[in-house]
Formats: sequence, structure tokens, C-alpha cells
Amino acid sequence: MFGKSLKRKYALTDRGVHNTKMGMVWTVAVNLLMMLGMGLLYFMMQSFIGTLTKNEPLPNPWLYIGLTVLFVIISLFVHIMQYRATYGLVYREIKDTRISLAERLRKLPLGYFSKRDLADLTETIMGDVNRLEHVSSHCLGYLYGSYISTALIAVMLAFYDWRLMIACLWGVPVAFALLFGSRRLAKRQSEIAKEAAVTVSDGIQEALENIREIRAANQEERYLDGLYKKIDAHEKTLLKGELSTGVFVNAASVIMRLGVATTVLTGAGLILSGQIDFMLFFLFLLVITRVYAPFDQSLAMIAEMFMSQVSADRLTEIYDTPTAEGADTFSPDGHDIVFENVGFAYNDEQVLKGVSFTAKEGEVTALVGPSGSGKSTCARLAARLWDASEGSIKVGGVDISTVEPETLLTDFSMVFQDVVLFDDTVMENIRLGRHGASDEEVRAAAKAANCDEFVNKLPQGYDTPIGENGAKLSGGERQRISIARALLKNAPIVLLDEATASLDVENETKVQGALSALLKNKTVLVIAHRMRTVQAADRIIVLKDGRVAEAGKPEDLLKQNGEFAKMVRLQQSANLISV
Ligand code: ADP
Repeated sequence: MFGKSLKRKYALTDRGVHNTKMGMVWTVAVNLLMMLGMGLLYFMMQSFIGTLTKNEPLPNPWLYIGLTVLFVIISLFVHIMQYRATYGLVYREIKDTRISLAERLRKLPLGYFSKRDLADLTETIMGDVNRLEHVSSHCLGYLYGSYISTALIAVMLAFYDWRLMIACLWGVPVAFALLFGSRRLAKRQSEIAKEAAVTVSDGIQEALENIREIRAANQEERYLDGLYKKIDAHEKTLLKGELSTGVFVNAASVIMRLGVATTVLTGAGLILSGQIDFMLFFLFLLVITRVYAPFDQSLAMIAEMFMSQVSADRLTEIYDTPTAEGADTFSPDGHDIVFENVGFAYNDEQVLKGVSFTAKEGEVTALVGPSGSGKSTCARLAARLWDASEGSIKVGGVDISTVEPETLLTDFSMVFQDVVLFDDTVMENIRLGRHGASDEEVRAAAKAANCDEFVNKLPQGYDTPIGENGAKLSGGERQRISIARALLKNAPIVLLDEATASLDVENETKVQGALSALLKNKTVLVIAHRMRTVQAADRIIVLKDGRVAEAGKPEDLLKQNGEFAKMVRLQQSANLISV
């Protein structure tokens, strides 16, 4: 029970919970041992005073030396064990948490990543996990262990004298109550600081990504000013947070230590009225030198724990997002894609409404329609990058919501406008299409995609690094690399988002040639912009406001003289097309 709530509250792994428990056990041992040390001192003093005042024989000094040595050895052992449990072992926790987080992220629907701010997500994986690791390694076991050991010490002291016990320890619950009272404030401050931190990393990322545009527009100074302001704001929120928690932590520490004064006063009063002897008073004086020590550290930790709650919540939010699960085998009967009454909303706004159509194997199905009508959304749903909220999507008769996305994607090639290239060689960028493909296979695919010619002009041919996200390549070249990837993969379904804007005529012809090799005998769903593709398609689906407005062969639709015919006429009159 305790383990479960720890696990959830601080987003720990199972091993983290185990380590925290071990940390608690050894902290209790360390704190009790400290009290045992005080007890030892007390008994030594008692027998010396006995010798001095009552002429009792001096006890055997070897007994005390032996006991002291034994105490030191045990103490050393217990401290080492506590260190291992609280600090040493837990460094593995950070690794485990990151791995389990990465596993979780891998299973989330891909759409999740376009919804979340990526700087924010990176901050969770790096910053939040670090913070929580620090809390779990340095704070949790220590704090809970200190609660338990102090409760045990209180019970023991009550056996000697309950009045003195209360005089000594009353400040502890009051101090903690004060800190818990400030909890909401600490959490709020921490949320504000976190937001400010994400704004800063967003700003830096944005500046780095757009440095060319910023320079070209001569906006460096203005942009940097804005960035400095964000950094300043972040610093201020951090200081404010530290200050407000610092006030509470120090006030709590002072209140706890008022116990020293009350113990002395109460003890003096009790001695004067003859209710206790001096030795008992002496015992309590020894105890107050040590009893607050575990909490000195804990008070600072508890403030950190409150603040880390924001990090834990952010991690828990990821763990609570439903994953896209499904079977890890996929054996469809053919590769027709069938949309049946599909409805979908990214947020609240319904983007697709009752969309039904079939994209047949061996045919090119073109999605056309005005911008924002839902064409890309249809393509994303077909590959289960998102899950449809209504209706069903079947590939070869199998409902894709029952298939694990990674498994499903082995049957899909995607050639989208925003080609993602990695800072690696041309060879490796194409090889991404099929892991383990030989160099010859990669070259053959590149050739078929019309990449060969431009790659051979690169200084190191296929071994040329292409810069971050293919910065050294033109739009058409990047797209041909992505087509080569798809050719290498040779998946039965191709989702294609035609891009025309960035291509010149020569490049366009080359891309077109590469595509015809890719599309042969596949199920092709193309988001069409070019009338040439539209006219050559086997089937047209016209989308309008998230609904299928018309569907059929291009020549039939033209004859129908509906939406499609209107679009064609419009584009012709705008002289945008070359049919
Ligand atoms: P098309 O491809 O036809 O231009 P889309 O499918 O991209 O249309 O978009 C359909 C609607 O969904 C648009 O109103 C667009 O603003 C919205 N939309 C697209 N992607 C997202 C997203 N990731 N989050 C929220 N809304 C989105």
C-alpha cells in the first residue's frame, strides 16, 4: 500500500520504491544508533559520578573502551549501509526511470508528440527525472526514516519522563505543520518556475532554428532583448520560489529548536520541585543535542519534495496517457484501406465527420479539397498516427485499432512534405527505410528514385554527411531521398503528400519519375495538389469541411459537374495547372 502510493506520488520505478524503503530502514538504524551513543555516554557519566560521589569502585575501563570501539564499528557499518541505500543505489533509478519513460513514449500514439511542446517533453525527460531522482535518493528514505525513528525515540523518552519528552519534541510536529501549510505556495511557485524554464528553452530553440531569418530581417537585437527578458523572468521566479520556501524552512527550524529552551525550563522546574533527579535531566540534555539533527536536513528536503511534486505530476501525466496498444502480428487479406463513418477531432473541433471511402490495392486514390478540409488528417488516421474517435478504419479487412502501431507501420511507406532527415550520411538516411538493407540495395533504391546523379556530385558520394535535417540539400533532393527510403522499404501501402511548391520544373519531373516506380501495384493514398496526379488517379475523394463531398473516377466527376469540376475550373482559370 505504502509502496504503491510512493510509486505514484513520486513517479518511482519498483526498484525506486524498494530503495526508498531500504533507505528508510537504514536511516532509522542510524538515528537510533545515535541515541544509543547518547545512552552509552549517559551510563558512563552515571558510573563516574557514582564513583566520585558515593565512593563506589571505579568500573573496569576496558569495558568502556570495548563498548566504545564496538559502537564505532557498528556505527560505521550502519552509516555505510545508509549511504548505499540513499545515495549509491539510487543512481540506477535515474537510468531506469528514463528507460521506462522512453518505453512509454514509444507506445504513445504518434499524434501525442505533435500535441505536446517538444521542449517541454525534453525538460521532463532530463530535468524532471533528475529532480525526482534527487528527491528519491536524498530525501524520501531519509525523511520517512526520520519520522519513524523520532516516533520510537519519543516512546522511549516517554518511559523516562513524558513531561520532558513533550517539552523536548513539541516543536517537531508544529514545524512540520507549518511546512505542510506552505505546501501549496511551494507547489505554485514551482509551477511558475517550470513554465518560465520552458519558455526560456522554447525561446532558445526558436532562436537557433530561425537564426537565418532573424539575421536576414536584422532583428537580432530585438530578438535577443526578448530572450533576455524571458531569462530574467525565469531567474526572478526561481529567486522568489527559493525565498518563500527559505522563510518557511528557517521558521520551522527555529520553532523546532525552541524545544531546547522548554526542555531546560521544564527540567529545572521538575528538579527544583524534586520530581526528577539531576541524572534524568542530564539524559534529556544529552538527547536534545542529537534529536533535532535528522530533521535539520529533512526540513530543507521537504521543501524540495513539495517542489518536486510538480515534476512528479508531469511524469505521471505521461504515464497516464493511454498508449496505442494492439496485436503485434498483422496479417491482412490484401491491402485495401476502408474508412467507415470515420469521425475525428484533434481537440474539441470535429475535423472529420462520417468519412467513408475505399482506397483499393493497385490503385491510386487521390484526396483533394481545399486546405484544411482534412486530407492530411485522413492520411494520418490511415497509418494510426492518431486513433479515429468514431467509425472504423480497416486495412485488408483488419481493424487497424487492433494492431500495434509499430507493427502496422511496417506495411506503410510515407512520403510527406516535411521530410525528416538526420545528420548522417546519405547512405544511412536512405537505409532508414529498411534496417539491415545492404549498400547495394540502398544504391539501387537511390538510383530508382533519381538520387544517383546528385549524390555522385557530393564530395564523398553516398558517404557525405548531409547536415542537420539535410540542411545541405535542396527541397527536391530531400524529397527524392525520402522516396528512395520508401522504395527500399517497398511496403504495400504508400501514403503520399505531394509537394510542389519547393520544386522547379526539372526537379519535379525527376521526382515524378521516381514516384511512378514507387507507386506501382501498391495501395496509394495521395494528398494531391497537382492536377496531373489528380487526372491520372484511379479514384478521387473530394473532401470539404471534413466530409466526403464527392467520390469517383476523375472523368465521371468532371461529367457530374459538381465540386471537383468546380475546383478544376477554378484552378484552370487561375492558371495554376498544367493538365
Ligand atoms: P488539409 O490536409 O486538408 O489541409 P488537415 O487535415 O491538415 O487539412 O487539417 C484539418 C483541420 O485540422 C484544420 O482545421 C487544421 O487546422 C486542423 N489540424 C490539423 N492538424 C492539427 C493538429 N495537429 N492539432 C490540431 N488541429 C489540427
